[in-house]
Amino acid sequence: MTVKAEARARLNFSTDWTYAPAPESASHAQIKPRYDLFINGKFVAPAKGEYFDTINPSNEKKLAEVGQGTGEDVDKAVRAARSAYDKVWSKMPAKERGKYIYRIARMLQERAREFAVIESMDGGKAIRESRDVDVPLAAAHFFYYAGWADKLEYAFPGKQPTALGVAGQIIPWNFPLLMAAWKLAPALATGNTVVLKPAETTPLTALKLAELIQEAELPPGVVNILTGAGETGAAIVNHPDIDKIAFTGSTEVGKIIQKSLASSRKKFTLELGGKAANIIFDDAPIDQAVEGIINGIFFNQGHVCCAGSRLFVQESCYDEVVRKLKDRMETLIVGDPLDKNTDIGAINSKMQLEKIHEYLKIGADDGAEQWCTSCNVPEKGYFCRPTLFLNCSQSHRIVQEEIFGPVLAVQTFRTVEEAIEKANNTPYGLSGGVWTDKGSKIFKVTSKLRAGVIWANTYNKFDPTSPFGGYKESGVGREGGLHGLLPYLNLN
Ligand code: NAP
Ligand code: MG
Repeated sequence: MTVKAEARARLNFSTDWTYAPAPESASHAQIKPRYDLFINGKFVAPAKGEYFDTINPSNEKKLAEVGQGTGEDVDKAVRAARSAYDKVWSKMPAKERGKYIYRIARMLQERAREFAVIESMDGGKAIRESRDVDVPLAAAHFFYYAGWADKLEYAFPGKQPTALGVAGQIIPWNFPLLMAAWKLAPALATGNTVVLKPAETTPLTALKLAELIQEAELPPGVVNILTGAGETGAAIVNHPDIDKIAFTGSTEVGKIIQKSLASSRKKFTLELGGKAANIIFDDAPIDQAVEGIINGIFFNQGHVCCAGSRLFVQESCYDEVVRKLKDRMETLIVGDPLDKNTDIGAINSKMQLEKIHEYLKIGADDGAEQWCTSCNVPEKGYFCRPTLFLNCSQSHRIVQEEIFGPVLAVQTFRTVEEAIEKANNTPYGLSGGVWTDKGSKIFKVTSKLRAGVIWANTYNKFDPTSPFGGYKESGVGREGGLHGLLPYLNLN
């Protein structure tokens, strides 16, 4: 009997049924064949006239071509942002600035469906996630920070907060629209103007947001959005007239950016990689914990900086947890991101899929026990079955390095102290999770885990009011909440 058949028998599934396809229609999603750069309120051709393709990773088809921004374009965008800052945005009453941000939030809500579909087409994430998580949270960030725009003195009593000027913002491909909202909303609310670069593989929702910003009649130059490669990002980082850099991406690129900013006056925040530990004690509600672990690592194909990619299970409940995990994993549906039944969509790019495959090989070669689900995956496109590695040890590379895919490394522990020591044994410190019935244990573990965000008896919950950021190599500074205003302000 296959593992799947065995799981179905145990779960009392009498027949091998599947869901009928339930695809979300893409007919209302308007994607132009070509997008220029959004500079000074207009879409303008890139200086060198070069474009690159963005594809749908679930079928490898081209969706559109987008402008390749160069240093010259970055310079043009920074000059537009500076002029908008000096002449319009810094002079506008804060209450009026707030109204523009509210307008962006409301327009985003009105077009939520189109944004969700395009996000899933361009990045590969399941429509359930882009529809229920990415787009509503992006709108919530604009709403939340719109509210702060005219209340900054209350956020920092006794101080006179003033904007920095022009912010350069660089974002990754895992939450394209949400990361744009995380960056733009606090910058605008604090009175800064912006030059933003989305990731190469997921530029479309940022460009749709540029269209929306144009329709919202935000004064030209307040937000500039430039597509391009790593060099475009580097040109933003190194531009002399930028006052602040906000970067979300890999630790590798974060280190390069921090080095180039070391001798500059620019403020910066870096939100980098992670290798979060989810810790299950034997007194935890096991079914709930298993659901949380599934959500923590397989949500968004594991393309989540705070994914619970390491699992620590107390020895006394190890067999039960692993059995229930495998059973639940067998029910996960991998496939068309636009299908509402899909749990795990497409891996974002061919390069990322190859990286995940490399780690699957490394894990097996290092001696961990590999197990993956038996589900079918589409032949075309970039897909990966959810995978467990059992019997891992602390020195295994799959335990130490960020994979950024649907791969979970499992280890055991006996005591609270051992769990904490093992969980902290990584260069990262972005997030973590603890599952137990005892409040005292939650306090003990959360106060000793060296990570910015720790969830207790839940996982991957986000809210614009809550600060987010890393310890150690997971980054510098905080985004979100009141804390997220500070990196964009001078406090006099
Ligand atoms: P990445 O390779 O570091 O790229 C991030 C962004 O930086 C992209 O727009 C990229 O452009 C650009 N870039 C590349 N080289 C650059 C350079 N030398 N100077 C300036 N910009 C440069 O990261 P990714 O692979 O897109 O994203 C995955 C990583 O992001 C993971 O490590 C994940 O943990 C992290 N992440 C962290 C958080 C957090 O809040 N801590 C949230 C989400 C993701 P191209 O796309 O053209 O390469
Ligand atoms: Mg794409």
